[in-house]
Amino acid sequence: MAFITRALRPLSRSTPTARLTTRRLASIRPVQSAYAFSTTPRRREVDLSELTPTPISLLTETESMMADMVSKFATEQIGPKVRDMDEAEAMDASVVEGLFEQGIMGIEIPEEFGGAGMNFTAAIVAIEELARIDPSVSVMADVHNTLVNTAIMKYGDAQAHRTWLPKLSTNTVGSFCLSEPVSGSDAFALQTKAEKTADGYKINGSKMWITNAMESGIYIVFANLNPSAGYKGITAFIVEKGTPGFSIAKKEKKLGIRASSTCVLNFDDVEIPKSNLLGEEGKGYKIAIEILNEGRIGIAAQMTGLALGAWENAARYVWNDRKQFGKLVGEFQGMQHQMAQAYTEIAAARALVYNAARKKEAGQEFVKDAAMAKLYASQVAGRVSGSAVEWMGGMGFVREGIAEKMFRDSKIGAIYEGTSNIQLQTIAKMLQKEYTN
Ligand SMILES: Cc1cc2nc3c(=O)[nH]c(=O)nc-3n(C[C@H](O)[C@H](O)[C@H](O)COP(=O)(O)OP(=O)(O)OC[C@H]3O[C@@H](n4cnc5c(N)ncnc54)[C@H](O)[C@@H]3O)c2cc1C
Repeated sequence: MAFITRALRPLSRSTPTARLTTRRLASIRPVQSAYAFSTTPRRREVDLSELTPTPISLLTETESMMADMVSKFATEQIGPKVRDMDEAEAMDASVVEGLFEQGIMGIEIPEEFGGAGMNFTAAIVAIEELARIDPSVSVMADVHNTLVNTAIMKYGDAQAHRTWLPKLSTNTVGSFCLSEPVSGSDAFALQTKAEKTADGYKINGSKMWITNAMESGIYIVFANLNPSAGYKGITAFIVEKGTPGFSIAKKEKKLGIRASSTCVLNFDDVEIPKSNLLGEEGKGYKIAIEILNEGRIGIAAQMTGLALGAWENAARYVWNDRKQFGKLVGEFQGMQHQMAQAYTEIAAARALVYNAARKKEAGQEFVKDAAMAKLYASQVAGRVSGSAVEWMGGMGFVREGIAEKMFRDSKIGAIYEGTSNIQLQTIAKMLQKEYTN
């Protein structure tokens, strides 16, 4: 098995040699991860005898090719559009098309359904590379791959796979609709109701903060089919755009990730067939928990990529362009120490992200690792992107480059897919369990 060493991306990196299309990606067989990592005392409970520990920053050849392909696509195709998309608060349709063309929207979907048939870490590196250029595009791919595609692959039956996966891998964006006006951190207090009809189900209620809502054609919607059973009535359904009674009520205007659409959705007697049930009735809460546990690693990757993108942007400026007192400002030790500290934190965040991803792939317990990765990566993204603005002085503060945008974009990492307090709660709960006699 060939491995390619991958340190943090250098400032001026070599251009990847080939543009990988979906077909090309699909032809590359994923190399099974041969290693697992553990940071907890529980390591001794897992049989690691067959595993060869390797540095955590090593990627398989396939993953490395994915990183290079996405990096090239993001730099060349997305980069020139980032500022305009942020100002317009809209995603350029050509970017969405490009994501599908490059195979980035079906990374883990099996080849038989038009996907690339790759592994979770390949999706994670793609999300990271996109965020290095634009965290808005990154979250589109993140929600689509790690929440929507994963939920349908994991909980959909053969019919659901045949119906939805070819669309999701080739031309239809997906949304994951859990939050509501009354239910955010307390997600299972949701009020959207479902009832059975002769042919299927009828959904009534509202969803809030739904990422990709403007661009999506497929929405996974959590609604309570049996409110008297509490959270055990929550059920997952698939609703298609255009279904009578479904509407986008409002598009939010936001602080950051402004090109990513975030909308309120209304469901007014939305009737769907039986086949649009995802998983089992009453198991929606389990689906939401399990999918979000994995999804969090994606947000951690987004924040790591954002931090690196902000750092690199400032590094180029201070080490190449800006002179004061007769020197490049990046030559002052006061600047260099801050930049070294920030780079070290990015590397630490990335290690947490890859560790969580590898543990998930190895079938190990990863929930605490995912929460730690998201918590820490979002903190690093906030710190590094804030410092990067300062390192660039006035040029960091104006809306010409990406410095101020990365800073604004970083804030969302501590909010969606579980706020930082909720991550801390998860980590503490699991630690307490581990350390209670
Ligand atoms: C841009 C954006 C995109 C989003 N995309 C999606 C999406 O695609 N799908 C979706 O379903 N949702 C989405 N969300 C919703 C997101 O997941 C929620 O905003 C998040 O879970 C927090 O919920 P809330 O906003 O209601 O905050 P609240 O839950 O009201 O929290 C407010 C504050 O209280 C704190 N808090 C709450 N409970 C506790 C507790 N028990 N202990 C300590 N502190 C606590 C929180 O940490 C926070 O600081 C998105 C949100 C945003 C802003």
